[in-house]
Amino acid sequence: MMRRKLAAGNWKMNGLSTDLAELDRLITRHAAPAVDLLLCPPATLLAAASARLGNHPLLIGGQDCHAAASGAHTGDISASMLADAGARAVILGHSERRQDHEETDQMVRAKARAAHAAGLTTVICLGESLDEREAANTLDIIGGQLSASVPDNSTGENLVIAYEPIWAIGSGLTPTLDQIGEVHDFIRTRLERRFGAGVGRSARLLYGGSVKPENAAEIFTISNVDGALVGGASLTADDFSAIITAL
Ligand code: PGA
Repeated sequence: MMRRKLAAGNWKMNGLSTDLAELDRLITRHAAPAVDLLLCPPATLLAAASARLGNHPLLIGGQDCHAAASGAHTGDISASMLADAGARAVILGHSERRQDHEETDQMVRAKARAAHAAGLTTVICLGESLDEREAANTLDIIGGQLSASVPDNSTGENLVIAYEPIWAIGSGLTPTLDQIGEVHDFIRTRLERRFGAGVGRSARLLYGGSVKPENAAEIFTISNVDGALVGGASLTADDFSAIITAL
């Protein structure tokens, strides 16, 4: 099964209009990328970012959406609104949203179902805390998040899973290659068991958490790592470009 590699950038709550110059630099440098590219700027920049792409294949994505199609939800954004602004994908269940906004697996699943229905690809994030890792509970935690956060209307094309250990995000710490490989193999097996070989083998699995130009190449040697979800190092075209090249 040949899965196309995917380099995804998550700008989080960073970026003003002037920072779209980094996007310009990125697409100039990777005019015909050999891998899929996704950049998720803040919602305020989605339309402007999309408008700058021209025919470039990079995809623009959101960082969250509401589970409802529309209605009285002040401050929230629906999946179809993301699509309308030019987004083709959305990150869901990032650990910062699980923590800051008390998002549960059930909420993530409802959001993902809505996003798939609106034609978006979802990047559904899973990850254990340091306490959970030290208590040797990682696979239990990941297995529980996976089964409860991923909706039934997932396909091999619209489902991307990002394994992001909470303790590795923004910390400069990364798991060992064996630790990453163990979790990715486990997620792959679980997806195949639930969805069958077609969907289970087509869905892409990203590693996220302190991916940098210095460690990207070795992380990308791990089987069942189909790319990366990159936070801090996606903010500049120089760093993100180096990661893309390593893929
Ligand atoms: P980081 O963030 O690359 O800055 O560690 C990754 C993420 O949270 O997606």
